[in-house]
Amino acid sequence: MNLILMGLPGAGKGTQAERIIDTYHIPHISTGDMFRAAMKDQTELGLKAKSFIDKGELVPDEVTNGIVKDRLGEADTKVGYLLDGFPRQISQAEALEAITAELNKPLDGVINIDVDPASLMERLTGRFICKTCGATYHKVYNPPKVAGTCDRCGGHDFFQRDDDKPATVKNRLAVNEKMNTPLLDFYSKKNLLFNVDGNRDIDEVFQDIRKVLDPLAGK
Ligand SMILES: [Zn+2]
Repeated sequence: MNLILMGLPGAGKGTQAERIIDTYHIPHISTGDMFRAAMKDQTELGLKAKSFIDKGELVPDEVTNGIVKDRLGEADTKVGYLLDGFPRQISQAEALEAITAELNKPLDGVINIDVDPASLMERLTGRFICKTCGATYHKVYNPPKVAGTCDRCGGHDFFQRDDDKPATVKNRLAVNEKMNTPLLDFYSKKNLLFNVDGNRDIDEVFQDIRKVLDPLAGK
């Protein structure tokens, strides 16, 4: 079963990816892991990618696509794969189509975990940290037992990382949404897109993912 997993930051992609690989026994191929492995193994493309990253430059498409091709060519993907973080744009989606055709591992489906942006804002901006001991909390999901007091050290001073501040999160979501929309259209036109309602708890979301994947897996 050859899959792509998509979803905006905070949509719960990481958790669902774990469940998918546990249930269907396919390797999870995330862009970050793929790059780290290529650089660590010092493959030709890994070294090329590193030369751009070290200069603080974007890795060109041909290098990224080559790393994807190398990874999808490895033996463990015979049983399938779950791509995560790739493709990010149409040119990469087109390259992926060519790569998977060449390797004879065409996509079976694209799972998009669809979560309402307002609830993503709540999930992603809720995190705050104790200034004294560094304990992490979340306004909604993991508040301190006594409001305003750190469970661990009793401190009363908290802060938010810049990454978790509303303006930053809003911008990050907008950038990601802008990148995802054309990709969702692309896969929808090819009848490969499965939207799953991500505005529910983890188990319910996974049940819906199973409804899509069980038939694909022949279960
Ligand atoms: Zn503390």
